[in-house]
Amino acid sequence: MADILGNAAPFKYAEELIANAKKIATPGKGILAADESTGTIGKRLASIGCPNEESYRRDLREMLFTSPGIENYISGVILFEETLYQNASDGTPFVKMLQDKDIVPGIKVDKGVVPLPGTDGETETQGIDDLGKRCAKYYEQGARFAKWRAVLKIGNGCPSELSIHQNAYTLARYAVICQDNGLVPIVEPEILSDGSHGIEVCAAITERVVAACYKALNDHHALLEGTLLKPNMVLAGAEGPKADVKLAGYLTARTLMRTVPAAVPGIMFLSGGQSEEEATAHLAAMNQCDNVKKPWTLSFSFGRALQASALKAWGGKKENFKAGQDAFLARAKANSEATLGKGDLTATGESLYVKDYKY
Ligand code: 13P
Repeated sequence: MADILGNAAPFKYAEELIANAKKIATPGKGILAADESTGTIGKRLASIGCPNEESYRRDLREMLFTSPGIENYISGVILFEETLYQNASDGTPFVKMLQDKDIVPGIKVDKGVVPLPGTDGETETQGIDDLGKRCAKYYEQGARFAKWRAVLKIGNGCPSELSIHQNAYTLARYAVICQDNGLVPIVEPEILSDGSHGIEVCAAITERVVAACYKALNDHHALLEGTLLKPNMVLAGAEGPKADVKLAGYLTARTLMRTVPAAVPGIMFLSGGQSEEEATAHLAAMNQCDNVKKPWTLSFSFGRALQASALKAWGGKKENFKAGQDAFLARAKANSEATLGKGDLTATGESLYVKDYKY
């Protein structure tokens, strides 16, 4: 039934969606993306000489989630399906472990990308068909938000109109299916950093892509207050002329000011292959920039930029749990401060960039 203004019927879970989205976007906190698929986590484990076995995948996640004081910096954790149903080594379900710390458990619900025929290698994300059923099951298991990654690229006429439109409408369709089942959708139109373009090109294209997403979300009657956006930062291409950190902060904030409605509580960035320190400096720069209106929280939903040094310090060994946790907490704290505009803007550190990145 329509409401008094003729708007579509509100979602059954409206209040809960709004409360959870707001909670995840609490200033000073962000999301840990720990939802690497079994294939991707296998590559991470291989980099420290460990086999891709369930016990190693569990130990890595356990090391991160049991970090003392993690809840001071992290409001939500995105899980892969295996982890949503997995127990820590002492038998505690990971979902309960997070809930006990007042951290919201989330779930990756996309099924990866397939080519869009007739394009120059552009893609669309799979997983819509049975999404409603899966969301209901994940809600039952304790998940309260979801992630769906759409992938776009810059160069040679890309992104095409088709790719922008198709990915925006699939993201919007995903978003309302999640909301119908009580999950806050993270809308993630990731524009890869592959390419030699300058930062202005990334700014212009990110503006087009994000604007298309909000047009689609509006067409699909998404409840914006119960959504989160997970965009790329506005940066030069990985092989392009590197831009100044302050300029990147400004162009990122300006792009979002032009495209993201004030109803959205939080914009939680992916790190996209930046070094850990670079990602933090850019986050601080956009939060420090005061000549742009920012009606939302600007925070993080990092995978690689929260885990890279922790993974190395842990090295797959139980006796290194504390070293891994110290490294993870150092990044989590620095990113938390960056969301509040604190921290310096010098960016160093080892790049975590991988061409044509699959998650
Ligand atoms: P990165 O921060 O490693 O880019 O990944 C975040 C993520 O969840 C991508 O979907």
